[in-house]
Amino acid sequence: MHAAPPRLTVAEAEKVALSHFGRRGRAYLLPGERDQNFRLEAEGEPPLLLKVSNLGEELAVLRMQLLALRQVAEADPELPVPRVLPSEDGPELVSLPSGGVARMLTYLPGSHLRPADLTSEGLYQMGRTSARLGRALRGFFDPAADQSILWNPRRVGDVRPLLSWVSDTRRPLVERALDRSEPRMLRALPTLRSQVIHNDLSFSNLTFESPSRISGILDFGDMCHTALVSDLAVTCESIVEIPHGFDALAVVAAGFQEVTPLEPEEVELIPDLLLARWATLIAVSAWRRVAFPDTAAYVGGWQHGPVQMLTQVEELGEDRWRRLVRNSVGGALSLAPGGAEPLSVTGLLEARRKLLGPALSPLSYSTPLQPVRGQGALLFDRDGTEYLDAYNNVPVLGHANPEVARAVAAQTAVLNTNTRYLYRPVLELAERLVATMPPGLDTVLFVNSGSEANDLAWRLARAFTGGGGAVVTRHAYHGMTSSVADFSPDEWHIPIAPPHVAMMDAPDGYRGPRRREQPGWTDGYLAQLDAAVGELASRGLAPAALLVDPAFTSEGVLHPPPGYLRALFQRWQAAGGLVVADEVQTGYGRLGSHLWGFARHGALPDLVTLGKPMGNGYPIGAVVTRAEIVEALAEKTEWFSTFGGNPVASLAGLAVLREAGRREFLDRVEELGVGLGSALRGLSERHPSVGDVRQLGLLVGVELVRRPDSRAPFPELAARLVESMRRQGVLVGRTGRDGNVIKIRPPLVISSEQVKSISSAFGRALDAESS
Ligand code: PMP
Repeated sequence: MHAAPPRLTVAEAEKVALSHFGRRGRAYLLPGERDQNFRLEAEGEPPLLLKVSNLGEELAVLRMQLLALRQVAEADPELPVPRVLPSEDGPELVSLPSGGVARMLTYLPGSHLRPADLTSEGLYQMGRTSARLGRALRGFFDPAADQSILWNPRRVGDVRPLLSWVSDTRRPLVERALDRSEPRMLRALPTLRSQVIHNDLSFSNLTFESPSRISGILDFGDMCHTALVSDLAVTCESIVEIPHGFDALAVVAAGFQEVTPLEPEEVELIPDLLLARWATLIAVSAWRRVAFPDTAAYVGGWQHGPVQMLTQVEELGEDRWRRLVRNSVGGALSLAPGGAEPLSVTGLLEARRKLLGPALSPLSYSTPLQPVRGQGALLFDRDGTEYLDAYNNVPVLGHANPEVARAVAAQTAVLNTNTRYLYRPVLELAERLVATMPPGLDTVLFVNSGSEANDLAWRLARAFTGGGGAVVTRHAYHGMTSSVADFSPDEWHIPIAPPHVAMMDAPDGYRGPRRREQPGWTDGYLAQLDAAVGELASRGLAPAALLVDPAFTSEGVLHPPPGYLRALFQRWQAAGGLVVADEVQTGYGRLGSHLWGFARHGALPDLVTLGKPMGNGYPIGAVVTRAEIVEALAEKTEWFSTFGGNPVASLAGLAVLREAGRREFLDRVEELGVGLGSALRGLSERHPSVGDVRQLGLLVGVELVRRPDSRAPFPELAARLVESMRRQGVLVGRTGRDGNVIKIRPPLVISSEQVKSISSAFGRALDAESS
C-alpha cells in the first residue's frame, strides 16, 4: 500500500507482453490505484489484460490471487472472473527486471455503468454475484491471505494515523465515523463468519453486458481473510449513493441472501462496515494524493461519494440511519426477487386493489404501513420509522423470534412432510398441549388456522351430538370458511343469521341492556342462551355447538365477570350441546396467569380451538378435545389435513408452547397487564370520553363515549386516536359493534417500558383531542 505504482510506458508494456507471454498487440493504460493495467489489443484476437503489480506487492500475495482465481473458476465456472494465462516459460507470474511482477489475464467483456443506470435485476445480480464469489472461495486457504491492507475491516485501527492528511473541514466527519464504527467492529469481527473474500466488489470492479447483466468481476488485489459480510458491505457502499439508495441496498442484499442468508449479527454490523469503508476511502485518498501525485486524479474521485454519505449520516442522525440500513438489508426478503422494480405506495395500493380484490379487509391506517422488519414488540417501516406494536397478537414471543425462526428454517432445510408418515415433533406437541388442558381433553387434531380449527370443531360437535344447531354471540368472529362464516356475524353486512344459527348477546356490563351495577346482572344474559336453545328447537334443531371467545374480543373486548363462562358452558352442556372455547385470541397466555382463557375463568369446554399465536406467525391451528368426540367423527368419515401438524409447523408450535407455557412467562403477562390497565384507567380521570377500560392480561379494550352519562359510542374519536397514536409510533386497533373500542394486544414479550409508552401515547393522543 505504501509502495509507488509501477511506471511502465505503453511501449514497455507491449514489449513485456511479447517477450514474456508471446502476445503481440497494442497496449492501452487503464486507470488503477496500485497496479498498472494495460489492455492489450491485437487484430482478430480477444483482448487481454496485462497486469503489472506494485513494486511493493509480495509475490506470495500475487500467487494467492492466482490460486484463488483458479479455485473460483473451478467451483463456479459461470462466474465471470478472469482466467490466468501462462507465460512463455510456464509460470503465470513473471518478475520484470524493472522490479514489478507481470501476469496476463483474459480481458472481461462489458463496460462500466453508473449505479443509477442499473435495473433492479442488475442490482439483484450484484448481490448474488458477491455471495456466489464468497461461496466459491469458502474453503480457500492461503497464508498470504493474512495480508495487512487497510481495506481489511479488521485493520480499521490503522486508518486513524492517516487522518492528518485529511483536510481540516472533513477530518471531524471522518473521525466521527471511525468513533462510531471502530469499537463495534473490533468487538464483532472476530466472532463473524470469516474466510478469504474478494473485498473490493464495488461498482467500479464490475463490468456489465447490459443494465441487468454482469459480465466481469475485476481486481482481486484486495483479497484477504476477513468477515464474509464485508463483501456485501463493499458492494452496498458503492450503490447507496444512488437516488433511493436504501431501496437499492435492499435489492442488492436480497440478491446476496438468496445465495447466502445473513446471520443477524452480520446484518447488525453492516452500518459500521459502511462507515469505516467511507472513512478509509477518504483517508487513503487524501494521503495518496500527496504521497503519489501521479495517481491523484484517480484517487481524488474517491472522496466525493463518501463525504456525501457521511454527511447524510449526520443529517439523518446516526440511529435513524443505522435503522434504515438494517431495515433495507434485513428486510430484504419482502422484496420480489429479481426483476420487478420496487413499486411506489400508490402502485402497491393499486396492485392490491386489482389483484387481491375488493372483498379483502381494508388496510390499517389512513397512510398504510409498510413494515419490513420486526424485533420483539417493534416493527420497522421502510423509511426507518420505528413502531411499538401494541396490536398484533400473533407474535406472542415477539416479531422474528429467533428460536421459532431457527426451528422453522432448520427443519424446512431438511424435510417437511405430513401426518401420514411417522415423526416425533407432532406427537411431542400433542402431548405437551394435552398436558396443559383439563383432564379428559386428550386428543389433538392439527390444522392450519383458527378458521379451520373452528370448522373442524363444528364437524366434531355435529358428529358427536347428532344435533345441528349452533349458538354464537351477536358480534362474534370465528373465521372465514363457509361453515364458520355462518358463526361470524361481525363480518356480515346484513345481520340475519342462517337457520341453524341462533344468536345471543355477549355480557356487556357497561353499555348493554343489563349493567354491572345491577346485582345478578349476568343472569339476563345467561337466560338468552335458553331462548336460543328454544329458537333452534322451534326449527327442529338440537344443540350441537356453542362457540365462545372467552374475551368476546370482536364484541369490544368484554371480559366476562367471574362465574359467567362456567355457568354459560354448563347451561349449554346441560341442554345436550358441546362447547367450543375459541382460544384463537385468548390462548397462549394472552389473558395472563393462565395459558388458556377458559381456564382463567374456571370453565370447562368440550373442544378447544387454537390458531394465531400457536406458531408465532408460522401457520398452525388445532382442535383439542376428548377421544370419544373424535371417535364419533371417525365413525362417519376419515379426516386428514395435508399441512396440519407438519414437522415444520410442529416445531414452531413446540418453540412457542415451551416458552409461553412457563409460569414466569404467564406471571409476567399478568403483572404487565395490571400495570397497563391501571395506567389507562388513570386516563379516564382527566378524559371523560374514556368510558370503560376492560383489561385482562395483555388484552385490553378501551371504550370511548361521547359523554359518560349517556355512554353513547364515539367511533370517530376512536378512529382519530388510532391514527394519532400511529403518528406517535404506537400501533393499536379498533373493535366492538360500534367501532368505538380501542383494542390493545401487544406481543407478550413487550417490556415494561414499552407498556408505559402505550399509555403515555394514549394520554397524549387524548390531550391533543381536548386541547
Ligand atoms: N376465532 C377468533 C376468535 C379469531 O379472532 C379469529 C381471527 N381473527 C379466528 C377465529 C380465525 O382465525 P384465522 O384468521 O387464523 O383463520
